Amino acid sequence: MVQNTSLVYPLNDGRSIPAIGLGTWQSKPNEVRDAVTYALEHGYRHIDTALNYGNEKEVGEGIRQSGVPREKIWVTTKLDNTWHKRVAEGFQKSLTNLDIDYIDLFLIHFPCSTDPEDSTKHLPDWDFVKTWQEMQKLLDTGKAKSIGVSNFQIRHLEKLLSDPSCKVVPAVNQIELHPSNPSPKLLQFCKSKGIHCTAYSCLGGTSGSPINNSGPLMEEPAIVELAKDKSKTPQQIGLMWGLQRGTSIIPKSVTPSRIDQNFALDGWSLTTEEMDSISAIKSRFKVVQDGWMPIRVFLGDDG
Ligand code: NAP
Repeated sequence: MVQNTSLVYPLNDGRSIPAIGLGTWQSKPNEVRDAVTYALEHGYRHIDTALNYGNEKEVGEGIRQSGVPREKIWVTTKLDNTWHKRVAEGFQKSLTNLDIDYIDLFLIHFPCSTDPEDSTKHLPDWDFVKTWQEMQKLLDTGKAKSIGVSNFQIRHLEKLLSDPSCKVVPAVNQIELHPSNPSPKLLQFCKSKGIHCTAYSCLGGTSGSPINNSGPLMEEPAIVELAKDKSKTPQQIGLMWGLQRGTSIIPKSVTPSRIDQNFALDGWSLTTEEMDSISAIKSRFKVVQDGWMPIRVFLGDDG
């Protein structure tokens, strides 16, 4: 019997990340508090947020409101681009916002060190390699239990890992992964370096934000047919595909019935043929673009 709701993936630092988490990007502060509480009351043990989402305070309130002990919950948050030169301060800001004593996983949100004075400029004297030097120091405080990166492509990871200052291999790379952005080379590269991948926008991100250009992934015939055959929803099929690729998944919802549905992943699985039929989907799109940043981060599907 497959028990995905209690599944954890081992990380390279000896810790284990719960396979299913709740995403919170674009969850408004007033809705996210209750969404986090609901998710934790219904079995979720992993919450993903970021300083950039502007909702850490309410995420923290949702955690406390749930009554689930802090030590049973995995909290991921991320260093915003304008804080790359002030890692310790950025980290402390997230701790204060969330009002918790430690962060389970602290990520560099993007490999882009934006000038805090002018968000159209990249800092001339700073890049993510220097940011990582500061991230590594957080481990000594005991308040960041694991550290990692997000939106890093192969060339970013090659640069980081080959730098002599890199003593700690990122535990996680959180990247956009769904059937229309499967990034097999990046996934394989991370695996070869012992870096676990968390899949974001794993449902194809249908929030309709100005930077969301997703197509109707959940209407893809391969997904719809499988959903009918297996009496599941298309979203559940998409999430199971992500889990069975060995990635953790962090579907976002503020809707209780969907929060439940996205966690109803026990006791069934996809066969190899079913996995292959989803992997054969040809449409391609990315939910998260890099046009709003001062430098290009994404150079093609697997660059
Ligand atoms: P997503 O999880 O792929 O999709 C979220 C959208 O799907 C919401 O509109 C949600 O609506 C809807 N939805 C959720 N479950 C559903 C279901 N069962 N049936 C129908 N619709 C459903 O998109 P995402 O927010 O882009 O990605 C997930 C999380 O990944 C984020 O929230 C964030 O935590 C993380 N993320 C990280 C980065 C990064 O740069 N590291 C970038 C993007 C995302 P309702 O909420 O209205 O129910």
